[in-house]
Amino acid sequence: MESYDIVILGAGPAGLTAAIYATRSLRKVAVVEKGVPGGQIAMTDLIENYPGFPEGVSGPELMQKFEDQAKKFGTEFINLFTVKEIQLDGVEKVVLSTDGRQIRARSIIVATGQNPRNLNVPGESEYTGRGVSYCATCDGAFFKDRRVAVVGGGNSAIQEALYLTRFAKSVTVIHRRDQLRADKILQERAFRNEKIDFLWNSVVVEIKGDNLLRSVVVKNVKTGELKEYEFDGLFIYIGYQPNTEFLKGLVELDENGYIVTDEKLETSVPGIFACGDVRRNVLKQVSVAVGEGAVAATSAERYLENLENK
Ligand code: NAP
Repeated sequence: MESYDIVILGAGPAGLTAAIYATRSLRKVAVVEKGVPGGQIAMTDLIENYPGFPEGVSGPELMQKFEDQAKKFGTEFINLFTVKEIQLDGVEKVVLSTDGRQIRARSIIVATGQNPRNLNVPGESEYTGRGVSYCATCDGAFFKDRRVAVVGGGNSAIQEALYLTRFAKSVTVIHRRDQLRADKILQERAFRNEKIDFLWNSVVVEIKGDNLLRSVVVKNVKTGELKEYEFDGLFIYIGYQPNTEFLKGLVELDENGYIVTDEKLETSVPGIFACGDVRRNVLKQVSVAVGEGAVAATSAERYLENLENK
């Protein structure tokens, strides 16, 4: 079984930054990823608030640079490895995959991020990929001159609604309250955009179609009124769930499933650290994930030094 000083779970901004720092400490480092490197941000069209890119930068481009930098210092990448469980064997940790592989590590950094939440309404899973999408950057271009709707009122929903106006004939934002949660700057852009309209105090209760999505049944939460609207696409941006299933019963999680750490970003298990969106923190942003990746790797390095000096 392959053995490493530090195994990093997840190859988004937090995990890749941790890899850069850990390899520069001349440790044997592997990054384990269930798909391909990049994380959620690789699905974002334009990042305007990551310092160093005054013109903005695309998610895939930025993440490719992170990956290249991690590789340059000797990070090993183990792709298509979905973590099922972590077992403790004295001070060593064994990472088990869903397909029966095992990796040993003296220290682990969890940077598995979070995944989009589902609406859990009839038709959602049936029409996913046939009109229902969780990624405007991936699927927006399929909706040229079509009518689409976006569910949610946060930064993701409004940013992606604005992006969809490049392709779609109209973009309807369906939000459960009468006020957006998104940053004011995005709100103003959306209110000014002639292609965007809003269904306030409204929730999606059913998604209908034939072999493709054709309409969405919306309920007004104030009046209880149900109304069917014709759309060709529905983009769902109602928040995220942390990828921490495999940690249940091992490390302390908060009530929403996010990992609780101390200020060194160490979890309740010595030698297991966490960083980025998967951690209970106040801001889910690339710049935060980057900073946390650096802290987690530095703390893991100190943990290993302490073990070696014992
Ligand atoms: P979010 O901020 O949690 O917003 C989720 C939105 O979905 C809220 O408006 C919420 O309504 C609504 N919602 C939640 N559950 C719902 C349900 N079951 N049915 C209908 N609506 C529901 O999530 P996010 O927009 O994905 O953002 C996640 C994090 O990433 C945030 O911290 C955000 O600031 C950050 N982010 C930042 C940027 C940027 O800076 N440009 C871009 C994208 C994301 P309520 O408002 O009523 O709660």
